[in-house]
Amino acid sequence: MPDRFRELQEAAIRFRDERDWEQFHTPKDLALGLQIEAAEVCELFLWKTRAEAAGKLHDEEFRTRLADELADVQVFLFYLAHAAGIDLPVAVEDKMAKNALKYPADKARGNARKYTEL
Ligand SMILES: [Mg+2]
Repeated sequence: MPDRFRELQEAAIRFRDERDWEQFHTPKDLALGLQIEAAEVCELFLWKTRAEAAGKLHDEEFRTRLADELADVQVFLFYLAHAAGIDLPVAVEDKMAKNALKYPADKARGNARKYTEL
């Protein structure tokens, strides 16, 4: 998985560099782009009831739109991590380890409380 992940990040960087877009990729603008793409994911679910949203997940056209927006989010994550010199797979592993300490399974299972409330 991490190898595939790195290949995809490199492909995204190549795509960008072939278009000479790095000049626009400041950390601030990449963070804004990430937020905007995440909002586009949310927009797909806006005003739908829980049942309607669940039903949409079986609609092929909707699934394609959702996949596209999730991919946009991931591409911005690639770009921002690259710009900041952060190894994203390592960062995810580190954060999951921190989360495991903050949310021990025996205390967090079956509830949505924040770690400070466990
Ligand atoms: Mg988008």
